[in-house]
Amino acid sequence: MALIALGLLSINSMVLAEWSEVKTTSMGTEIVVSLWAQSPAAASVASQAVIAEINRIDQLMSSYRPSSELSAVNKGAAKHPVTISAELYDLIERAGEFSELTSGAFDITYASVGYLYDYREKKYPEKDKISNHLAAVNYHHIQLDAENKTVKFRRAGVRIDLGGIAKGHAVDRSIEILQQAGIKHAMVTAGGDTRVLGDHKGRPWSIAIQDPMQKNNPVAVIPLVDEAISTSGDYERFFDEGGIRYHHIIDPETGDSARKVKSVSIIGPESTTADALSTSLFVMGLDRGMELINSMQGYEAIIVDAENGLKYSNGLQQFK
Ligand code: AMP
Ligand code: MG
Repeated sequence: MALIALGLLSINSMVLAEWSEVKTTSMGTEIVVSLWAQSPAAASVASQAVIAEINRIDQLMSSYRPSSELSAVNKGAAKHPVTISAELYDLIERAGEFSELTSGAFDITYASVGYLYDYREKKYPEKDKISNHLAAVNYHHIQLDAENKTVKFRRAGVRIDLGGIAKGHAVDRSIEILQQAGIKHAMVTAGGDTRVLGDHKGRPWSIAIQDPMQKNNPVAVIPLVDEAISTSGDYERFFDEGGIRYHHIIDPETGDSARKVKSVSIIGPESTTADALSTSLFVMGLDRGMELINSMQGYEAIIVDAENGLKYSNGLQQFK
């Protein structure tokens, strides 16, 4: 009797189990949560928990919100140490590790000149204005105190922005929440950052890499199981003027938009790392970028170079 009841229960939950997809906007971009849950109610609870988490991280780390912890850092840290949450502290610390790894291509103090750009208003700083602010761009200006969980800037004019790593962090946190809720198959996307949990109906998830020149035209489709993929492109936030593209990824050496490549996708186990590396390799360009990624365990890259050529790192040669 108990067995029959159990059998009925599992049939019942199989009938009710379904894919659910929820979309919203947070962190200035589109969020998509797709998952397989045992019931519509369970799917809704899990998706809402993810969205709440992403909103929480946005409120903590957004440079656009005057009330965020990050804004408090930018306001005060040149004058005095600012006490921050362990979560923000850890992400600033990790950002510094990527700065070291990439010889400064990834640098959250890019924002010391980055704030002078306004892509919606088509505004970019003149050369002399860039040079006035460029000395403030250097991750070594960030002083972290692990014991007191404070951050201080070593000079005036320094600003930080976590736009190149925070979405990856939010996606990793989302996947953690889904795993804790017992979800086995899911995909979470925040703009260019995606991580998948398990497979999709018994097959790998198919993640498309956009053609930088043509929207909705994938240059490659990558099958993924239990992996993250992050794409940085010059088509995400930009304007063109005089044949030059001004966009949101800034070379910390010049204070100008990085123009060595058109897009970089990084595939690997963790979204935070993939996010930071996609922004980094965009700045580093094809040769230095591929050299770095080929030296790293578990991470691969697909780069659309300046001539629209599709280039794969050593572990992806089968896609050629
Ligand atoms: P993504 O879309 O992940 O490539 O990140 C782009 C975002 O990273 C930009 O919108 C900025 O917020 C931030 N960013 C731009 N240039 C840099 C840089 N050189 N290092 C770190 N973050 C950057
Ligand atoms: Mg990135």
